[in-house]
Order: sequence, then C-alpha cells, then structure tokens
Amino acid sequence: MEHIENDSRFGGLTVNSGVTQPPVVNPYLKKRRRASLPSAAEMVEGILKGDITTLSRAVTLVESLSPSHQAIAQEIIEKCLPYSGRSRRIGITGVPGAGKSTSIDVFGLHVLKQGGKLAVLAIDPSSERTKGSILGDKTRMEKLSTHPGAFIRPSPSAGSLGGVARKTRETIVLCEAAGFDNIFVETVGVGQSETAVHSMVDFFLLIQLAGTGDELQGIKRGIMEMADGIVINKADGDNIARAQLAQTQFRSALHLFPMPESGWSPEVLTYSGYYEIGIEEVWDMIDRYFDFVMANGYFGRKRARQAKYWMYETIDEQLRNNFYNNPEIERMLAEKESRVLANMQSSFTAARDVLDLYFSMK
Ligand code: GDP
Repeated sequence: MEHIENDSRFGGLTVNSGVTQPPVVNPYLKKRRRASLPSAAEMVEGILKGDITTLSRAVTLVESLSPSHQAIAQEIIEKCLPYSGRSRRIGITGVPGAGKSTSIDVFGLHVLKQGGKLAVLAIDPSSERTKGSILGDKTRMEKLSTHPGAFIRPSPSAGSLGGVARKTRETIVLCEAAGFDNIFVETVGVGQSETAVHSMVDFFLLIQLAGTGDELQGIKRGIMEMADGIVINKADGDNIARAQLAQTQFRSALHLFPMPESGWSPEVLTYSGYYEIGIEEVWDMIDRYFDFVMANGYFGRKRARQAKYWMYETIDEQLRNNFYNNPEIERMLAEKESRVLANMQSSFTAARDVLDLYFSMK
C-alpha cells in the first residue's frame, strides 16, 4: 500500500516500503488448537481444591475484556462467593523505593511460617512497571515466588483505576475460595489507588522512610488517615536514629487526627525489611489489630460497608463502560465535543442531547 506521507501534501518526504520480514514462527509447524475453556463449574471445582493453574486461569478471565470471558468469570465469582471471606486482607502502600517488594517478601515468609497460604496482588493502574508480566513481580519478590504456599499476581494491566481495582477485588474472592487465608494487596503510594486498596482490605499498612528531615512533608494527610499502622523501613545501620526520630514525629502527627471509627489507634513502628529486623513486631501489631476489631465488631461492619461500596462501584463502572463504548454515543460525543469547543452549543445542552440519545436506546 502506498504510504500516506508520499501524498503531495507531504512534499519533500518519501517513504520507502520496507523489506518483507520472514515469519518469526515456523509456518510449517502445525498450528495447535487451543484447548477449549473448562466450564465455570469445572473451574470452581478446581479453585475449591486449591488448584493454582485453575485459579490463574480464572483470574485471567476476570481480567479479560472479552464479554464472553466476563460472563464465565462472573459465574465463577458468584459460585465462589460462599467460600470467600475467610482471610486477612492487608493493604500495603509506600512510595516507590520505600521497600515494598523487599518487605512483602519477608513479611510474606513470616506469615507463611505460621502456616496457611498467601496471595500477593497488586493495584497499579499505570502498570508500566510490569506491563502485566508475572516475571516483573516474581523477580521483585524472590523468596516468596518460589514458596509453594504463595500466589503472586501482578496488577491487572493498565486501565481505569475503578476497573483495575474491581478486578483485584474479584480476584480476592477467587483466592479466598482457593484457601488463601492471607491476602496482601500492594499499591504504589502515589495517587488515588490507595483509596481503592483501602476499600478492599481489613488492615492498611503504610511503609515510610526516614532520613530526609522533613518526613511529614509530602505525605498526603489522607493516606496517613487511612493507615492502621505506619512502619518506617530501613531502620538499619546509621539510619536507625533517623528512623526513630521519624517514628516520634509520626506518632505526634497521628495525635492530631480524630480517633478512627475502628477505635484502634494506629501504631508507628520501625523495622528493616532488608536486614529482617523488627518483622515480628510489625506482625504482632497486625495480629493485635485483628483481635481488636474482631472483638469490637468493627471487622464485620467494615466488610459489610465495603461490599456495599463495591456494588455501587461496579454499577458505576458498568454504566460508564456501557455508555462510552456505545458506537452511536461515541460518534455523537465527538460531534458534540467539537460544537462545544467551537462555542456553537453549551456544555449542558450538548450533554443533555447525548444523554437523551442514550436513554432513548434499546
Ligand atoms: P519498592 O519500590 O517500594 O518495592 O522498594 P524495593 O523493595 O524495591 O526497595 C528499594 C530499594 O531499597 C532496594 O534497593 C532495596 O534493596 C532497598 N531496601 C529495601 N528495604 C531496605 C531496608 O530495610 N534497609 C535498607 N538499607 N535498604 C532497603
């Protein structure tokens, strides 16, 4: 085909056609037919048995954009729901470099030493880091990745935060049905994703660093307020004193916040993920939190509220998708957008026209 830039409008520029590349895959190899998907019931059976291959396949369906995959995924989730809920869901956040991977590796091994199984999920809507490749996360968590009791799954690939978060929320259900009794949900502490993680976990751990002298600056108040525990990493070598100073500063900063609804006062600890110092203390705090909120009923209330939140989030997301992915709406939106930009129509009447079209459909 003639290249578009060879048109007279692009005079002075010629584009030569490239050399035909030999096929990368040997064309004489017989194409293997992909095995058809097992039914939802078969997959549920595999998940309930704790079969990791089936669990991975189901998570892939949850993450898929294909409507037929989504339909099976929803059926699987529905069937797994009665077996879900029996895990400790722990959110872990911190800026890049705070030591999340290093810490999750050692926290994870610590948890697994006590028995049970651990799933590590992530929410990273930008997901440039791994581009959805498992390798990325496996190399980040070296020890855990070879542990038979651990299931590590990178963030669903880039998309809207709401969509990525919902998929992770659904993956939690599948992991719990597969017998994972500890779930870590990791997120990069630089944006809205903390709120999404906070809305799906029981305990929210904020990993901080010391040493800059202005620790409290640049930390969004909102994130601190969400934390049930703040842990200052890299308290090792000549960084110990600075970590302790940061601990004092965080403690006094937390006093300025109102008592959280849970009745639990967030604790501030120092530790070193790399040298594995203070890991047990961090875990002890998390154990105490669970005992506390189980005893005062907050655990159940929070889970119920989260379930309601996800219902509305899912409705919002599906409505938005249905609206914006409708070809007629897309066409009209493009047209209305240029009219609004050209001052030919007001934003409000343009919006009303598009919505009128949407509501008149079906
Ligand atoms: P992430 O971006 O939050 O996942 O952080 P990483 O776990 O990749 O850690 C970032 C860097 O900090 C790496 O070079 C780690 O080796 C280092 N690091 C992590 N934890 C510690 C620690 O406890 N002490 C020290 N000194 N370095 C650490």
